[in-house]
Amino acid sequence: MNILVINCGSSSIKFKLFSMPENTLVASGLIEKIGGTDATINYSKGTSIFRETRKVSDHRQGLEIIAKLLTDPERGVVKNLSEIKGIGHRVVHGGEEFTGSMLIDEKVKNKIKEFIPLAPLHNPPNMEGIIASEKYFPESVQVACFDTAFHTTISPVAYLYAIPYRFYQEYRIRRYGFHGTSHRYVARRFAQLMGRHKYDVNLITCHLGNGCSITAVKNGRSIDTSMGFTPLEGLVMGTRSGDIDPGIILYFVENLGIKPSEVNKILNKESGLAGISGVSNDFRSIVESASKGNKMAELAIEIFCYRVKKYIGAYLAVLSRTDGIVFTAGIGENQPVVREKSLQGLEELGIIIDREKNKNCTATEQEISSPESKIKVFVIPTNEELAIASDTYEFAKKQGRI
Ligand code: ADP
Repeated sequence: MNILVINCGSSSIKFKLFSMPENTLVASGLIEKIGGTDATINYSKGTSIFRETRKVSDHRQGLEIIAKLLTDPERGVVKNLSEIKGIGHRVVHGGEEFTGSMLIDEKVKNKIKEFIPLAPLHNPPNMEGIIASEKYFPESVQVACFDTAFHTTISPVAYLYAIPYRFYQEYRIRRYGFHGTSHRYVARRFAQLMGRHKYDVNLITCHLGNGCSITAVKNGRSIDTSMGFTPLEGLVMGTRSGDIDPGIILYFVENLGIKPSEVNKILNKESGLAGISGVSNDFRSIVESASKGNKMAELAIEIFCYRVKKYIGAYLAVLSRTDGIVFTAGIGENQPVVREKSLQGLEELGIIIDREKNKNCTATEQEISSPESKIKVFVIPTNEELAIASDTYEFAKKQGRI
């Protein structure tokens, strides 16, 4: 059964077509710079690659192009769009409402719209993708998979901020957490690798990409995570600050006269690795610069890893028994230096990494701890799209689309 996964960003659409239940990737692509006259379309099927630059006005037109590509007599993968039985949509914010993926109906769409103030940059393009795909794929089951869903098992003790309670009651200000699809995927994979039931593992999952978050998983369920009300809290990220004293924001505004919109830009776009290193938000460039003696690049790496280590310590305490630590996403999968520095000195706590294995592990699923390590350390490449495809496949099956 063909399942299409769609991830609409503010000016982009990523898509992947899977054949399920074999989990085989059939075709994939990315449309970028939507809204401009020079949007780029990248599409690949097997080894053949197609590229084009042209005007793509909006997400609706983007979806129309995807539908045409997938049915193109030469480049396409299906004769008719009705062969695509389900469309899985990544939706960033599902509020407190959605504890798992949902079949999309009017009620679900209204809720996604209701959550726009909580995710003003993400939920609107997610919604546009849904509306367009209902138009171009009317016979497919439409499913929404929420970044927040995996974290809905977090208890009030961990999700409430110590601000007047009415802000939660009236405005639902609380920790939501993000990257849930990725944390869930690697947690389930870790359980499989250990030969355990998915609800029989305690672990810490570190999703370190452009955005970074870390989650404490107890009995297979998220019990705490570093991102909060917005994806700005927690770890140091490419351009986001992660945790800071909220007093700094007041100081920016009241003493330095910086406008709220500018504060937003500073903390979301100009901070993190880019802000400290002054080099880039890309970890590869920072490592290269540090290797040439750039002290600020070196410091950025140290600060990044120190913050990861601090959270690991906190979550070890919260979990009491931890079976494993998993590293995933661009940095987690490809930067041995980050894994080594984040876990350095934790031997007394039962974490011993095999330096050779760690050094040689890039983007492959592998254990990197030594046999005597009480807590297993793994690199598990994330695959959010496949997780979304699996959820969508289950719904399509239930709807009798086989
Ligand atoms: P996103 O959160 O946008 O999905 P990624 O998971 O791709 O981002 O992570 C991007 C980060 O991972 C960048 O800092 C980049 O330098 C790093 N990264 C990605 N691929 C590699 C690689 N092959 N080697 C080293 N670092 C990588």
